[in-house]
Amino acid sequence: MKFKDKTVVVTGASNGIGKAIAEHFGREGANVVVNYYSSEEGALDTKKTIEQLGGQALMYRANIAEYQQCQELVEATINHFGRIDVLVNNSGITRDQLMLRMSEEDFDAVIETNLKGTWNMIKHASRPMLKQKYGRIINLSSVVGVIGNAGQANYVASKAGVIGLTKSLAKEFGKKQVTVNAVAPGFIETKMTASLNEEVKSFYRSQIPLNTFGSVDDVAYTVLFLASDEARYITGQTINVNGGMIG
Ligand code: NDP
Repeated sequence: MKFKDKTVVVTGASNGIGKAIAEHFGREGANVVVNYYSSEEGALDTKKTIEQLGGQALMYRANIAEYQQCQELVEATINHFGRIDVLVNNSGITRDQLMLRMSEEDFDAVIETNLKGTWNMIKHASRPMLKQKYGRIINLSSVVGVIGNAGQANYVASKAGVIGLTKSLAKEFGKKQVTVNAVAPGFIETKMTASLNEEVKSFYRSQIPLNTFGSVDDVAYTVLFLASDEARYITGQTINVNGGMIG
């Protein structure tokens, strides 16, 4: 019950990594705001699991690419639970395409959700955190945001942007004991990676020193550590959770 009486907002908690993060916080007794956009059923399942594990949950639909909706999400959190201690910016999308074929819409959609969405959430959640002189902000980046990847210029730019945002805001918020860190997963078994064919998967596996894809739990454990009191002296960092793919 490490997070009892703590309020945690997890964006994109209806699926994959976000769902695992939200459920792990629930297991530790947190009040969890389960944000979702299109997967109401997934969010409902997350909410039920959190409640069974001993936490409290509030489901909240918001498109994080929309500034106003993020403001309403933070207001709903404070109205319901009274405060906000931890923000996990997990929501993310891909629209992969080689540069010559990538449309302007595909570029904009990915930047608006992954980068602007992260900024939108921090913009609204940081005010109460700075006021209470306590907060933990954890942003999901990606291994490709660190090393680049052909066919993902939009996604990589958004995830590298998240690292820049993390470093800058860690410097701005440090004086008020609000930490800002990023987690950069490698290949994690989720819907996002399930669509890859076996040949591609086997190639990627051969690039991973631990020779296996990660699980959503591997990422969740890292996020929970960064949100804990034990991580109070860590800020502005990007933690790689990638089986050793990059140092
Ligand atoms: P999934 O596709 O399984 O889940 C994505 C989540 O983001 C969903 O819950 C979805 O909600 C939510 N989401 C998408 N668009 C919006 C939006 N506009 N507003 C609010 N929520 C939205 O992805 P993963 O779990 O695989 O990835 C989670 C994060 O981890 C992402 O940021 C991703 O980039 C990153 N990551 C993943 C890796 C992997 O191997 N899987 C590797 C590296 C990084 P809904 O379904 O309700 O619309």
